[in-house]
Amino acid sequence: MASLEGKTALVTGASSGIGAATVQALRREGVRVAGGARRTERIDADVVGELDVTDPASCERFAREAVSDLGGLDVLVNAAGLAVGRELFERSTEEDERIVLETNLNGLVRMTRLCLPHLRDGGHIVNLGSVAGRQAYPSGALYVTSKFAVRGFTYALREDLLGRPIRITTVDPGLVETEFSLVRFRGDREAADSVYRGVEPIRPEEIAECIVFALTRPPHVNVDEIVVKALAQSSGARILRSEE
Ligand code: NAP
Repeated sequence: MASLEGKTALVTGASSGIGAATVQALRREGVRVAGGARRTERIDADVVGELDVTDPASCERFAREAVSDLGGLDVLVNAAGLAVGRELFERSTEEDERIVLETNLNGLVRMTRLCLPHLRDGGHIVNLGSVAGRQAYPSGALYVTSKFAVRGFTYALREDLLGRPIRITTVDPGLVETEFSLVRFRGDREAADSVYRGVEPIRPEEIAECIVFALTRPPHVNVDEIVVKALAQSSGARILRSEE
Protein backbone atom coordinates (compact mmCIF):
# COMPACT_ATOMS: atom_id res chain seq x y z
CA MET A 1 0.00 0.00 0.00
CA ALA A 2 1.43 3.39 -1.01
CA SER A 3 1.36 6.10 1.66
CA LEU A 4 -0.52 9.36 1.08
CA GLU A 5 1.31 11.12 3.94
CA GLY A 6 2.39 14.62 2.93
CA LYS A 7 0.43 14.60 -0.34
CA THR A 8 -2.01 17.31 -1.36
CA ALA A 9 -5.52 17.04 -2.81
CA LEU A 10 -8.25 19.23 -4.23
CA VAL A 11 -11.80 17.95 -3.70
CA THR A 12 -14.84 19.51 -5.39
CA GLY A 13 -18.27 19.08 -3.82
CA ALA A 14 -16.58 19.16 -0.41
CA SER A 15 -19.55 20.61 1.49
CA SER A 16 -21.67 17.46 1.59
CA GLY A 17 -21.97 13.71 1.09
CA ILE A 18 -19.25 11.82 -0.76
CA GLY A 19 -17.01 14.87 -1.27
CA ALA A 20 -17.13 15.83 2.41
CA ALA A 21 -16.45 12.22 3.49
CA THR A 22 -13.54 12.04 1.04
CA VAL A 23 -11.98 15.18 2.52
CA GLN A 24 -12.02 13.57 5.97
CA ALA A 25 -10.75 10.20 4.72
CA LEU A 26 -7.84 11.86 2.93
CA ARG A 27 -6.94 13.98 5.95
CA ARG A 28 -6.84 10.85 8.10
CA GLU A 29 -4.24 9.51 5.62
CA GLY A 30 -2.08 12.60 6.15
CA VAL A 31 -3.16 14.48 3.03
CA ARG A 32 -3.52 18.28 3.04
CA VAL A 33 -6.84 18.96 1.36
CA ALA A 34 -8.41 21.96 -0.35
CA GLY A 35 -12.18 21.65 -0.46
CA GLY A 36 -14.41 23.66 -2.75
CA ALA A 37 -18.18 24.14 -3.05
CA ARG A 38 -20.70 26.96 -3.05
CA ARG A 39 -21.61 26.51 0.66
CA THR A 40 -18.15 27.19 2.10
CA GLU A 41 -19.46 27.36 5.67
CA ARG A 42 -20.06 23.62 5.52
CA ILE A 43 -16.55 22.67 4.37
CA ASP A 44 -14.10 21.20 6.89
CA ALA A 45 -10.75 21.14 5.08
CA ASP A 46 -7.19 22.52 5.38
CA VAL A 47 -7.92 25.04 2.63
CA VAL A 48 -11.51 26.14 2.08
CA GLY A 49 -12.60 27.91 -1.08
CA GLU A 50 -15.77 29.08 -2.76
CA LEU A 51 -16.33 27.13 -5.95
CA ASP A 52 -19.13 27.05 -8.47
CA VAL A 53 -18.06 24.51 -11.08
CA THR A 54 -20.54 25.97 -13.58
CA ASP A 55 -18.69 29.31 -13.50
CA PRO A 56 -15.34 29.34 -15.37
CA ALA A 57 -14.03 32.34 -13.40
CA SER A 58 -14.87 30.70 -10.07
CA CYS A 59 -13.11 27.50 -11.17
CA GLU A 60 -10.01 29.37 -12.30
CA ARG A 61 -9.83 31.32 -9.04
CA PHE A 62 -10.33 28.29 -6.82
CA ALA A 63 -7.87 26.07 -8.71
CA ARG A 64 -5.21 28.81 -8.69
CA GLU A 65 -5.61 29.68 -5.00
CA ALA A 66 -5.93 26.06 -3.84
CA VAL A 67 -2.80 24.93 -5.70
CA SER A 68 -0.90 27.95 -4.39
CA ASP A 69 -2.02 27.41 -0.76
CA LEU A 70 -1.29 23.68 -0.94
CA GLY A 71 2.07 24.20 -2.68
CA GLY A 72 1.33 21.89 -5.62
CA LEU A 73 -1.14 19.13 -6.32
CA ASP A 74 -1.08 15.32 -6.16
CA VAL A 75 -4.77 14.37 -6.23
CA LEU A 76 -7.92 15.79 -7.80
CA VAL A 77 -11.28 14.37 -6.72
CA ASN A 78 -14.17 15.59 -8.88
CA ALA A 79 -17.15 14.95 -6.58
CA ALA A 80 -19.39 17.98 -7.29
CA GLY A 81 -22.56 16.81 -8.96
CA LEU A 82 -26.32 16.66 -8.85
CA ALA A 83 -29.56 15.54 -10.43
CA VAL A 84 -32.60 17.75 -10.90
CA GLY A 85 -35.99 16.05 -10.89
CA ARG A 86 -37.04 12.44 -11.46
CA GLU A 87 -39.44 12.80 -14.38
CA LEU A 88 -39.99 11.57 -17.90
CA PHE A 89 -37.83 13.42 -20.41
CA GLU A 90 -41.02 14.99 -21.87
CA ARG A 91 -41.10 17.23 -18.77
CA SER A 92 -37.47 18.29 -19.04
CA THR A 93 -36.69 22.01 -19.26
CA GLU A 94 -33.91 24.04 -20.82
CA GLU A 95 -32.90 25.29 -17.37
CA ASP A 96 -32.73 21.85 -15.70
CA GLU A 97 -30.75 20.43 -18.62
CA ARG A 98 -28.29 23.30 -18.42
CA ILE A 99 -27.77 22.90 -14.65
CA VAL A 100 -27.17 19.14 -14.82
CA LEU A 101 -24.83 19.17 -17.82
CA GLU A 102 -22.96 22.29 -16.69
CA THR A 103 -22.38 20.86 -13.21
CA ASN A 104 -21.75 17.16 -13.84
CA LEU A 105 -20.01 17.33 -17.21
CA ASN A 106 -18.69 20.78 -18.12
CA GLY A 107 -17.75 21.53 -14.49
CA LEU A 108 -15.83 18.27 -14.13
CA VAL A 109 -14.07 18.73 -17.49
CA ARG A 110 -13.24 22.34 -16.61
CA MET A 111 -11.78 21.53 -13.19
CA THR A 112 -9.75 18.69 -14.70
CA ARG A 113 -8.36 20.96 -17.42
CA LEU A 114 -7.43 23.63 -14.87
CA CYS A 115 -5.81 21.21 -12.41
CA LEU A 116 -3.99 18.94 -14.85
CA PRO A 117 -1.03 21.28 -15.48
CA HIS A 118 -0.40 21.43 -11.71
CA LEU A 119 -0.57 17.68 -11.04
CA ARG A 120 2.83 16.39 -10.01
CA ASP A 121 4.28 13.16 -11.39
CA GLY A 122 2.53 10.33 -9.56
CA GLY A 123 -0.67 12.39 -9.51
CA HIS A 124 -4.14 10.90 -9.57
CA ILE A 125 -7.54 12.07 -10.85
CA VAL A 126 -10.68 10.50 -9.37
CA ASN A 127 -14.02 11.18 -11.04
CA LEU A 128 -17.35 10.46 -9.38
CA GLY A 129 -19.43 8.70 -11.99
CA SER A 130 -22.47 6.62 -11.15
CA VAL A 131 -24.17 3.35 -11.99
CA ALA A 132 -26.41 5.75 -13.96
CA GLY A 133 -23.41 6.22 -16.25
CA ARG A 134 -23.30 2.51 -17.03
CA GLN A 135 -26.96 1.53 -17.37
CA ALA A 136 -29.91 3.82 -18.07
CA TYR A 137 -32.94 3.95 -15.79
CA PRO A 138 -36.32 5.58 -16.45
CA SER A 139 -37.07 9.22 -15.63
CA GLY A 140 -33.44 10.23 -15.22
CA ALA A 141 -32.43 11.05 -18.80
CA LEU A 142 -30.25 14.09 -18.14
CA TYR A 143 -28.49 12.62 -15.11
CA VAL A 144 -27.88 9.36 -17.01
CA THR A 145 -26.58 11.33 -20.00
CA SER A 146 -24.22 13.38 -17.85
CA LYS A 147 -22.76 10.33 -16.11
CA PHE A 148 -22.31 8.35 -19.35
CA ALA A 149 -20.43 11.41 -20.58
CA VAL A 150 -18.25 11.50 -17.45
CA ARG A 151 -17.28 7.88 -18.11
CA GLY A 152 -16.52 8.71 -21.75
CA PHE A 153 -14.36 11.63 -20.67
CA THR A 154 -12.52 9.45 -18.15
CA TYR A 155 -11.76 6.85 -20.84
CA ALA A 156 -10.68 9.51 -23.35
CA LEU A 157 -8.43 11.28 -20.85
CA ARG A 158 -6.79 7.94 -19.99
CA GLU A 159 -5.82 7.70 -23.65
CA ASP A 160 -4.36 11.21 -23.65
CA LEU A 161 -2.47 10.63 -20.38
CA LEU A 162 -0.77 7.48 -21.65
CA GLY A 163 2.96 7.94 -21.13
CA ARG A 164 2.52 10.39 -18.27
CA PRO A 165 2.79 9.22 -14.66
CA ILE A 166 -0.74 10.29 -13.79
CA ARG A 167 -3.44 7.79 -12.86
CA ILE A 168 -7.17 8.16 -13.43
CA THR A 169 -10.05 6.32 -11.79
CA THR A 170 -13.81 6.52 -12.08
CA VAL A 171 -15.74 5.56 -8.95
CA ASP A 172 -19.32 4.66 -9.89
CA PRO A 173 -21.64 4.26 -6.91
CA GLY A 174 -25.20 3.04 -6.69
CA LEU A 175 -27.46 4.09 -3.85
CA VAL A 176 -25.57 6.29 -1.37
CA GLU A 177 -27.44 8.16 1.36
CA THR A 178 -26.46 11.83 1.06
CA GLU A 179 -28.25 15.08 0.26
CA PHE A 180 -28.32 13.97 -3.38
CA SER A 181 -32.02 13.02 -3.27
CA LEU A 182 -33.02 16.15 -1.36
CA VAL A 183 -31.44 18.20 -4.14
CA ARG A 184 -32.94 15.99 -6.86
CA PHE A 185 -36.45 16.38 -5.41
CA ARG A 186 -35.99 20.15 -5.04
CA GLY A 187 -36.08 20.14 -1.23
CA ASP A 188 -39.01 17.71 -0.84
CA ARG A 189 -37.88 15.83 2.29
CA GLU A 190 -40.60 13.16 2.10
CA ALA A 191 -39.72 12.28 -1.50
CA ALA A 192 -36.01 12.27 -0.67
CA ASP A 193 -36.43 10.00 2.37
CA SER A 194 -38.51 7.53 0.35
CA VAL A 195 -35.45 6.79 -1.82
CA TYR A 196 -33.68 5.22 1.17
CA ARG A 197 -36.74 3.62 2.83
CA GLY A 198 -36.73 -0.15 3.40
CA VAL A 199 -33.17 -0.58 2.16
CA GLU A 200 -29.69 -0.19 3.60
CA PRO A 201 -27.91 2.30 1.34
CA ILE A 202 -24.16 2.78 1.10
CA ARG A 203 -22.75 5.44 3.42
CA PRO A 204 -20.63 8.23 1.89
CA GLU A 205 -17.72 7.15 4.11
CA GLU A 206 -17.79 3.77 2.37
CA ILE A 207 -17.34 5.43 -1.03
CA ALA A 208 -14.51 7.52 0.42
CA GLU A 209 -12.81 4.25 1.47
CA CYS A 210 -13.01 3.06 -2.16
CA ILE A 211 -11.36 6.28 -3.30
CA VAL A 212 -8.58 5.86 -0.74
CA PHE A 213 -8.13 2.27 -1.93
CA ALA A 214 -7.56 3.43 -5.52
CA LEU A 215 -5.17 6.17 -4.40
CA THR A 216 -3.06 3.88 -2.25
CA ARG A 217 -2.25 1.20 -4.84
CA PRO A 218 1.41 1.04 -5.94
CA PRO A 219 2.28 3.72 -8.53
CA HIS A 220 2.33 1.26 -11.47
CA VAL A 221 -1.22 0.05 -10.69
CA ASN A 222 -4.15 2.03 -12.08
CA VAL A 223 -7.55 1.06 -10.72
CA ASP A 224 -9.60 2.05 -13.76
CA GLU A 225 -13.11 1.69 -12.35
CA ILE A 226 -14.80 0.93 -9.07
CA VAL A 227 -18.50 0.08 -9.30
CA VAL A 228 -20.16 -0.22 -5.91
CA LYS A 229 -23.83 -0.83 -5.26
CA ALA A 230 -25.95 -1.49 -2.21
CA LEU A 231 -26.42 -5.24 -1.74
CA ALA A 232 -30.18 -4.83 -2.20
CA GLN A 233 -29.67 -3.16 -5.57
CA SER A 234 -29.10 -4.93 -8.88
CA SER A 235 -29.19 -1.85 -11.12
CA GLY A 236 -29.83 1.89 -10.89
CA ALA A 237 -33.59 1.52 -10.64
CA ARG A 238 -34.00 -2.03 -9.29
CA ILE A 239 -33.90 -1.96 -5.51
CA LEU A 240 -35.32 -4.61 -3.19
CA ARG A 241 -37.12 -2.94 -0.29
CA SER A 242 -38.28 -4.64 2.92
CA GLU A 243 -41.91 -4.20 3.94
CA GLU A 244 -42.30 -1.89 6.94
P1 NAP B 1 -24.60 15.74 -2.14
O1 NAP B 1 -24.56 15.31 -0.71
O2 NAP B 1 -25.79 16.49 -2.61
O3 NAP B 1 -23.27 16.54 -2.48
C1 NAP B 1 -23.11 17.18 -3.73
C2 NAP B 1 -21.93 18.13 -3.65
O4 NAP B 1 -21.79 18.75 -4.94
C3 NAP B 1 -22.14 19.24 -2.64
O5 NAP B 1 -20.94 19.45 -1.93
C4 NAP B 1 -22.47 20.46 -3.50
O6 NAP B 1 -21.96 21.63 -2.88
C5 NAP B 1 -21.64 20.14 -4.74
N1 NAP B 1 -22.10 20.92 -5.89
C6 NAP B 1 -23.29 20.87 -6.53
N2 NAP B 1 -23.35 21.81 -7.48
C7 NAP B 1 -22.15 22.47 -7.44
C8 NAP B 1 -21.60 23.55 -8.16
N3 NAP B 1 -22.28 24.18 -9.15
N4 NAP B 1 -20.36 23.97 -7.85
C9 NAP B 1 -19.64 23.36 -6.87
N5 NAP B 1 -20.12 22.34 -6.15
C10 NAP B 1 -21.36 21.91 -6.43
O7 NAP B 1 -24.50 14.47 -3.12
P2 NAP B 1 -23.45 13.25 -3.21
O8 NAP B 1 -24.24 12.01 -3.24
O9 NAP B 1 -22.37 13.39 -2.20
O10 NAP B 1 -22.88 13.50 -4.67
C11 NAP B 1 -21.49 13.55 -4.93
C12 NAP B 1 -21.22 12.94 -6.30
O11 NAP B 1 -21.55 11.55 -6.26
C13 NAP B 1 -22.06 13.53 -7.43
O12 NAP B 1 -21.26 13.64 -8.59
C14 NAP B 1 -23.14 12.49 -7.65
O13 NAP B 1 -23.64 12.52 -8.96
C15 NAP B 1 -22.36 11.23 -7.35
N6 NAP B 1 -23.19 10.05 -7.04
C16 NAP B 1 -24.05 10.06 -5.98
C17 NAP B 1 -24.82 8.93 -5.71
C18 NAP B 1 -25.80 8.85 -4.57
O14 NAP B 1 -26.61 7.90 -4.53
N7 NAP B 1 -25.77 9.76 -3.62
C19 NAP B 1 -24.70 7.80 -6.54
C20 NAP B 1 -23.81 7.84 -7.61
C21 NAP B 1 -23.05 8.96 -7.83
P3 NAP B 1 -22.72 23.07 -2.85
O15 NAP B 1 -24.20 22.82 -3.03
O16 NAP B 1 -22.37 23.59 -1.49
O17 NAP B 1 -22.11 23.85 -3.95
